[in-house]
Amino acid sequence: MSDIKQRISCEFFPPKTEAGIAKLLADVTPVLNALGPEFFSVTYGAGGSTRDSTMGVVSAIRDLGIDVAPHLSFGGDDENAVADLLEAYRAKGVKRLVALRGDIPSGTGGKAQSVYANELVAFIRKTTGDHFNIEVAAYPEIHPESKSYDSDIHFLKAKFDAGANSAITQYFYTVEAYFYFLDQCAAAGIDKPIYAGIMPITNFANLKRFSTNCGAEIPRWICQRMDAYGDDQESIGKFGLEVVTQLCQTLLDSGAPGIHFYTMNQVEPTRQLFQHLGLTQSS
Ligand code: FAD
Repeated sequence: MSDIKQRISCEFFPPKTEAGIAKLLADVTPVLNALGPEFFSVTYGAGGSTRDSTMGVVSAIRDLGIDVAPHLSFGGDDENAVADLLEAYRAKGVKRLVALRGDIPSGTGGKAQSVYANELVAFIRKTTGDHFNIEVAAYPEIHPESKSYDSDIHFLKAKFDAGANSAITQYFYTVEAYFYFLDQCAAAGIDKPIYAGIMPITNFANLKRFSTNCGAEIPRWICQRMDAYGDDQESIGKFGLEVVTQLCQTLLDSGAPGIHFYTMNQVEPTRQLFQHLGLTQSS
């Protein structure tokens, strides 16, 4: 049995096809669940674009008797629609949510308004009281639209003040950025857990592209090594596993409250991390 006391959770996105959903539920969820994470979360497409598929995957995971947290944003919805969704989740036995502003979907010409996450948290508390444990997003390397480091922490605190219970970070590869962020949050009066979001490194080209958009930095030394591997996927996978295992080990040894794995709906990268870190229930 692992002696790790910190919270471990895993994230999925709702697949676009029926076959993808079936695979996630039959082949991925049970295998990762057997490793013993506390819960799974399921993302919500920008602008509410996956409202039905997120609900479908969340319901199916609940039906397997597994704790699951839907991600949620106002998207383009009004208060009644969000309240209905909250009720539907409550009826399904869902007890956790990840509350977000979300991104404005492309193709809206920048005209769409979005509701800040602190307002969504306040709305959830107003309509459903203390039923849900609410997680929010945090950014150790600071949200790309943020005016300053301090203002981003100010708005994170606003999410806690509105009733959030804990936060999960955007992924990062510089451990000092995370612990410095925790110190700054504590200095700003935040006393709730901020779990480390961890992205396994598999497809490096995709990761690089995605990181530019979401403001996560990939250190130069990692890029240099990865670029040198070219198309050698085996070496990329091996080095990625080594780097991310070391990152997680340092986090767990240095007092991070827990880790949230961005699984990208794949078994192997997350399973290997569990194994290397001795997190599996049978280790
Ligand atoms: P907010 O906390 O509302 O912050 C957005 C920006 O506005 C920040 O720059 C902040 O400093 C500023 N701000 C915040 N509040 C205010 C205010 N009241 N007044 C003025 N400025 C303010 N995206 C998805 O589309 N679907 C998902 O399922 C999803 N899941 C995620 C899960 C995690 C753990 C993380 C870290 C990110 C996730 N994202 C997801 C990405 C996220 O939606 C984007 O990063 C989005 O741009 C910001 O969402 P947020 O909830 O952090 O926004």
